[in-house]
Amino acid sequence: MTTRRPLVAGNWKMNGLTSSRQALADIARGADALAGTVDVMVCPPATLVLPFAAAAGGAVAIGGQNCHAEPSGAFTGDISAEMLADAGAAAVIVGHSERRTLCHENDAAVRRKVEAAWRAGLLAICCVGESAGERATGRTLEVVGGQLEGSIPDGASADNLVVAYEPVWAIGTGLTPSPADVAEVHGFIRNHLARRFPDAALGIRILYGGSVKAANARELMAVADVDGALVGGASLHPKEFLTIAGVYGPA
Ligand code: PEP
Repeated sequence: MTTRRPLVAGNWKMNGLTSSRQALADIARGADALAGTVDVMVCPPATLVLPFAAAAGGAVAIGGQNCHAEPSGAFTGDISAEMLADAGAAAVIVGHSERRTLCHENDAAVRRKVEAAWRAGLLAICCVGESAGERATGRTLEVVGGQLEGSIPDGASADNLVVAYEPVWAIGTGLTPSPADVAEVHGFIRNHLARRFPDAALGIRILYGGSVKAANARELMAVADVDGALVGGASLHPKEFLTIAGVYGPA
């Protein structure tokens, strides 16, 4: 039987200064106590990847929030996957809905970023999810299926890919899908992975993201095929973030 070690990853978005190192230290201390039961990751803004990776210790992995598809070149303001790896990142989020929407990144662009992450030896955390309108018109599985097909290149494995299901309408809104709806989409993602990557699918982690809080984490993380969480707002508060990760901790 394949066992998947859960992953709870915090997406700090455009929040955090060098003075946030105390928050990282608090998370690292709590993650130490959970080591072996759950992988804990913090994805700070790019300016903090290097100092956080240096300070995190073994219990917390550090990830980037985005990368350019090319390894280097004339792309003012961008950061490559190789640069993130060089700074100590172990992973990078790609295809977050804020980038798909605000920066007009389509599936082809996300796919190139996943390839860039793999080229640099990073774990790609690839986000997919439907908008409110798409859910209301019954198109959730069609949209998520298209994003998976278009954003994930051949060659996925448990070591290089995590999929994050993040309904756009649940991000930062306090709204969450019902456990039954989460189960339906995560089961659909697992089946998609099984069709494309039959040898790897059972090992690839599928995270739920969208308004995960201490108060709802236990119910959401108990859903079949939910292998952890991608946490936005709540990850800025070490105690709350650790309570979410602690769902997987020793009883
Ligand atoms: C996110 O941005 O990935 C996210 C899940 O945000 P929040 O937890 O704040 O909804």
